Amino acid sequence: MTTIMDGKKLRDKILSGLKSEIQTFDKKPVLAVILAGDDAASRIYVNNKKKTAENLGIKSIVIEYPADVGENILLEKIEELNLDKEINAILVQLPLPAHIDKQKVIDTIAPIKDVDCFTIENSGRLYTGLEPYVYPCTPQGILYLLDEYKINLEGKHVVVIGRSNLVGKPAAQLALKRNATVTVCHSHTRNLSDITKTADVLISAVGEVLIEDDMMKDDCVVIDVGIFRDCNGKVRGDVNFETVSKKASYITPVPGGVGPMTIASLMVNTVKLYKEQNKRSS
Ligand code: NAD
Repeated sequence: MTTIMDGKKLRDKILSGLKSEIQTFDKKPVLAVILAGDDAASRIYVNNKKKTAENLGIKSIVIEYPADVGENILLEKIEELNLDKEINAILVQLPLPAHIDKQKVIDTIAPIKDVDCFTIENSGRLYTGLEPYVYPCTPQGILYLLDEYKINLEGKHVVVIGRSNLVGKPAAQLALKRNATVTVCHSHTRNLSDITKTADVLISAVGEVLIEDDMMKDDCVVIDVGIFRDCNGKVRGDVNFETVSKKASYITPVPGGVGPMTIASLMVNTVKLYKEQNKRSS
């Protein structure tokens, strides 16, 4: 029998615990979000993050810039937020306008306020096995789902499709930390299905419908990170849910699987950074 992993239910559970915890704090945690440009999807994401944060008792400040903002303006604002003791977490909404050096902007965030774990320092900590303050939100969300459904990765073959810094690489690294045997596939991988057929756990983060039921073995755990709109405007994931869900032991739906976990992780990460900063200043 296939279990559908319910990201919305788990998100609500995590956020309800977090809300109770925040009510015991003297001060509200504060998340600052930088939004540059006029990407419609980014605006929706930022609004959702703000709404979720405020519901929990996290103060959310959104700092908006036009698409032609100078890089220096962003760097100066981040320096200012770094020094501001009221700000606990900083998020730069991606994508940034093309003329801006994304990594330079991200690396200006103080590592202790880097809520996405994207700075070189925090990535370095993650990839060398040192603990960063928080893990990147989407891969962290995947771990929450695996834990909720008691899926142990030890000794399992985890196949990750996608090698972005946002999802694929950190997801692979976190699976390694859990003692999985990990294979990372990407757009240059040959004979993809020969590899996916050997997966005990398949994590797909691509952004196109790619995974069919003949690409996996029976009882595989399938985590679908992909989210995009197809030509009919329907929200889709990487996995052909209809067929794959008949064969998988566990599967995440799209929407309602990994997506809600990403936002839950962002809130948890904000609170973790808040607590870490309070610990240091006490
Ligand atoms: P990306 O474009 O940076 O990376 C896509 C990866 O897929 C690349 O590494 C590429 O090599 C690989 N790829 C492309 N075509 C392939 C193919 N035919 N076979 C094998 N690999 C192939 O994207 P990203 O930022 O990593 O996001 C991936 C998907 O996950 C997108 O749909 C994005 O919207 C979604 N996403 C969802 C969440 C969430 O919370 N659910 C969060 C982040 C990203």
